Amino acid sequence: MKELSEIQGIGRVLQNEPMKNHTTMKVGGPCDWMLVPSTEEEIIQALKTVQALNIPYMILGNGSNLLVRDGGIRGAVIKIGEDFSAIRIEGETLYAEAGALLSTVAKRAAKASLAGLEFASGIPGTIGGAMVMNAGAYGGEMKDVTVRVRVLDGETIREIPAAEMGFAYRYSHVLPKQWIVLGAEFSLQTDDAEEIQARIDDLTQQRTTKQPLEWPSAGSTFKRPEGYFAGKLIDDAGLRGFRYKDAQVSEKHCGFVINRGNASFQDIQTLIESVQKAVYEEFGVHLEREVKVIGEDLCE
Ligand SMILES: Cc1cc2nc3c(=O)[nH]c(=O)nc-3n(C[C@H](O)[C@H](O)[C@H](O)COP(=O)(O)OP(=O)(O)OC[C@H]3O[C@@H](n4cnc5c(N)ncnc54)[C@H](O)[C@@H]3O)c2cc1C
Repeated sequence: MKELSEIQGIGRVLQNEPMKNHTTMKVGGPCDWMLVPSTEEEIIQALKTVQALNIPYMILGNGSNLLVRDGGIRGAVIKIGEDFSAIRIEGETLYAEAGALLSTVAKRAAKASLAGLEFASGIPGTIGGAMVMNAGAYGGEMKDVTVRVRVLDGETIREIPAAEMGFAYRYSHVLPKQWIVLGAEFSLQTDDAEEIQARIDDLTQQRTTKQPLEWPSAGSTFKRPEGYFAGKLIDDAGLRGFRYKDAQVSEKHCGFVINRGNASFQDIQTLIESVQKAVYEEFGVHLEREVKVIGEDLCE
């Protein structure tokens, strides 16, 4: 299919783009098309185009909560990332386009002497992904600071007040309502820039000490089972450092599965299933995957 690369106004168009280059776990086969819009108009046009051509599509942020299968993705991936990531500050209000990284937004806020986003500075996602997941860490979550979210709802742009976003633990209405997040407005408080930066540095230090940030991963692989900690169960089952090919349970934090270099999706999946089986046999607890799996298996 040649059509998409010939269409204007839908952003950059890439064909057969390896998804391993767009996910933090660094696995995943190619998507047929990747559209990379840089304005709201291009996002709207990209959506209209794939719908008119009956091409299945999905929205991608920074790919930090996704595992893509080795056969890749049939259809189009609309990547809302750094090409659409402007940040505007007015008084104590910060607006960020959906593709801005949380780390960049937190840094910009700190520079402008605005506190409130420190908790998010080490979460490697975009504003869009963070609105989908109500991302949170160290006692803070997006819902604490969000005033309203700008979304594309069908063909209409709407400003959704935070109270109507359905924010809950790692949940919002974005996916069920099939909204596309265009940006979000945050209410922050004036504080001393150096103190804000010191809090960010402290949280960064805590993350670097505890999490295997030196390896590709998708963050916490499993949800926290009620009454337990996934990492502790995995450790207690004797699986610290357990490895299948290049997929490994992190030695630093057992709740993370890491890619030691050349793991495929299937290697990661095999390891995840072995961990689930071992923990269930040992403790009778089912570990549910936290990361989303998308795409197709390789054809034999
Ligand atoms: C090392 C590491 C540490 C992490 N630590 C944390 C943590 O402390 N706390 C935490 O909450 N998470 C954490 N995560 C997980 C992840 O960073 C968050 O879930 C983040 O919010 C995902 O954002 P993303 O842009 O990468 O989304 P993606 O992974 O690209 O997408 C996730 C979902 O959101 C959808 N989506 C993305 N952008 C949009 C948009 N603009 N409009 C509509 N839908 C969209 C996608 O279709 C997909 O369904 C961590 C991940 C890693 C790798």
